Amino acid sequence: MLIPTLPDLVRRLTRTHPDELTRSTWFQEEARAERFVALTRVVILSVWLVVTASVSGLVPWIANLSNVGVGAVWWVWCVVYAGFIARRPYRSPYKYVSTTVDMVLNTIILFLYHYGMGYSTTLKAPAFMTYLILGFMAAYRFSMVLPLYAGGLALAGFGGLVAYFVITDNIGFGPSLQSYTSPLVSPTVLVFQMAFIAASAVLGSLYANNIRKLVDRQVAYEIAIERERQLARTDDLTGVHNRRHFLALAEHEVATAKRYKRLLALLLFDIDHFKLVNDRWGHPFGDLILKEVAEAVKPLLRESDVLARYGGEEFAVLLSDSGAQQAAVAAERIRAAVAAHVTEQGSARATVTVSLGVAELAAPDDTLDALIDRADRALYAAKRAGRDRTVVA
Ligand code: GH3
Ligand code: MG
Ligand code: MG
Repeated sequence: MLIPTLPDLVRRLTRTHPDELTRSTWFQEEARAERFVALTRVVILSVWLVVTASVSGLVPWIANLSNVGVGAVWWVWCVVYAGFIARRPYRSPYKYVSTTVDMVLNTIILFLYHYGMGYSTTLKAPAFMTYLILGFMAAYRFSMVLPLYAGGLALAGFGGLVAYFVITDNIGFGPSLQSYTSPLVSPTVLVFQMAFIAASAVLGSLYANNIRKLVDRQVAYEIAIERERQLARTDDLTGVHNRRHFLALAEHEVATAKRYKRLLALLLFDIDHFKLVNDRWGHPFGDLILKEVAEAVKPLLRESDVLARYGGEEFAVLLSDSGAQQAAVAAERIRAAVAAHVTEQGSARATVTVSLGVAELAAPDDTLDALIDRADRALYAAKRAGRDRTVVA
């Protein structure tokens, strides 16, 4: 449906995205649109400046100079704003600020053109075109409100100038190719131009709505893909990385650590006598324990550490910028946290312990497989030595 019903319109105008991922993706799309508009503004103004400069070669050099001068004021604003948008994080209120400045500057410059230089021509076709172009750029930000807002400002600016010059008997407002010496104002042309700006604002608003729908679909698609990706990387039960993704991350970490000669440690831990836990409390309760063990370990790790479910009841932690010594400290912290945690469900109440094996990246020709193998042996040694302990390879 091209023309929305009023409740539909209100809903769309006030729509917010409750979902964080959706909102951030939308935010990126808006930022991209804003940067595009800022750049377009610079390009259009540059072309306009060059054209005015060459066209006004027909008039005396002083007029030429002012002509370029006032155009340059606007051009500087556009360049500064484009630079601002490119350097800083985009904030959506700025698009209203930029639209307001556009329209106000356009109006002031037109006023100066006419008042200071006696160019009634500039109040006609070019002025009109500039308002329409600015209005269209507002529509590109896929907000239904912005084109209406821009149209309102354009009508106020253009209408105000026309009214002022009509009242001061200062302008001839005929078709653009007519001689401007005539003080005659054609009300028909005037009304037509105003109506055209208003209609463009409404059309721009509907157009923005259609772009918005397209972007919505695109965003929904990107989010679906991102969710799929996330699912393929995480373990369903515990929410930590799965083995496959862990190995991929670890491969990268090992390569980086070797290249920049950084420390890297691997920690493997396995729940003790988990078979007995399952036998006693049942598999679903065993699942709950696995989940809570992962939850208990997460807050003990740094942002850069990678926690993964390596096997059934076996977990892996990759500690960047850490040697075996630091990893052993982390391992003991994990061991203590798990041992202190009680999993409860109904009448079931259990505490499990874990055995941990630690290994660090050694010689420059060390590999991930070798690292895993050493950590695994250390873990096995911890099991043999009586469980609930850490062994460093
Ligand atoms: P150890 O101290 O030597 O590690 O003894 P263990 O019983 O924990 O070791 P073992 O490897 O013999 O058994 C692992 C058990 O973990 C077997 C399986 O029932 C259980 N397990 C593996 N994955 C899951 C899972 O996803 N959920 C539940 N509830 N149990 C699991
Ligand atoms: Mg076990
Ligand atoms: Mg095991």
